[in-house]
Amino acid sequence: MDKRDYYEVLGLPKDADEAAIKSSYRKLALKYHPDRNPNNDEAESKFKEASEAYEVLSDADKRAKYDRFGHAGVQSNFGQGGFEWSDFSHATDFQDIFGDVLGGMFGGGRRRARGPSGPPKGRDLRITLELSLEEVALGVERKINLSRQQRCKVCDGAGAAPGADTKTCGTCNGMGQVQQVSRSFFGQSVTVTACPTCSGEGKTITDPCHECSGEGRVRESATITVRIPAGVSTGNYIPLRGQGDVGPRGGPTGDCLAFIEEKEHDQFTRQGNDILLRMPITISQAALGDDIEVSTLHGAVRMKVPEGTQSGRVFRLRGKGVPDVDGRGHGDELVEIMVWTPTNLSAEERALFEQLDELQQKRAKKEGKSFLDRMLEALR
Ligand SMILES: [Zn+2]
Ligand SMILES: [Zn+2]
Repeated sequence: MDKRDYYEVLGLPKDADEAAIKSSYRKLALKYHPDRNPNNDEAESKFKEASEAYEVLSDADKRAKYDRFGHAGVQSNFGQGGFEWSDFSHATDFQDIFGDVLGGMFGGGRRRARGPSGPPKGRDLRITLELSLEEVALGVERKINLSRQQRCKVCDGAGAAPGADTKTCGTCNGMGQVQQVSRSFFGQSVTVTACPTCSGEGKTITDPCHECSGEGRVRESATITVRIPAGVSTGNYIPLRGQGDVGPRGGPTGDCLAFIEEKEHDQFTRQGNDILLRMPITISQAALGDDIEVSTLHGAVRMKVPEGTQSGRVFRLRGKGVPDVDGRGHGDELVEIMVWTPTNLSAEERALFEQLDELQQKRAKKEGKSFLDRMLEALR
């Protein structure tokens, strides 16, 4: 059977506003609701039709789709079997539409009180851990002192003085919630809120503990140990479950979030999992080659600089970087060679450079363009 146009179902023009849609649906729903029309199939199908139309037209997004594509644009929302009433009974504004007018006719489920909520959870704490690049590369264990709310030992977190007891809250009779009845455009409505006397806990304390004034917790300093895995970066955090503030009156404990902050290193620069080291060598080392000592995060190592090494050349020391934080693989250390031009020449050095200069000038004259080409090659 072809579906009727949703606007037609609600008896509205295409440009009907939200209030008109709501009001029209409310009238139809009250008229055709199955509880008011027992064993009346026609009423039931009219009720479902109106509910489906309302479900679509009351949602700006679905309504726009429906306006463009018709039923095809919104069909998927209802699955193969068509509209299911149970889908709709959870709509958030349902109670808003009907208020208390229909009473319990949609089943007791929706208005059942949830019962006392229990004491609230403690706060999450945030701390910052400053780590050196060495600590990042190797992983580290840190002991941290912090001040946090801890369970009161006198009352064991209950908040009541020893021997005294908690009492069922008189305002909400232990339900933790109170109902407020108000009248709105659509009739009477009931709002359920947390009980102001017991903050939803359902219990009150008659004789509060003197140590914690009934809070069930006191601020104390604590030392905790944090294990930081290798490979972390600034902005990462380590969640320390249950290491935050304890909740009042025995409420659950919050977490402590340890945020990582990398300290700047005076030699190395981190590039992802690789670390970069700029390494100066002399002109003679560059020309003749040498075996040099290079620092790494794991101690000094020897590295061969081949004869004729140009400034800017990068050597890769495999696996000498930072391990991947999820344990897969390892970064490298990149050693960038910087050829140092000597300053403050001694007389002897100067004489040698002058001699070298003379030889190279001669060679440049003899070789001409090919000498220049060899120099330019170093730039590539
Ligand atoms: Zn106490
Ligand atoms: Zn209460």
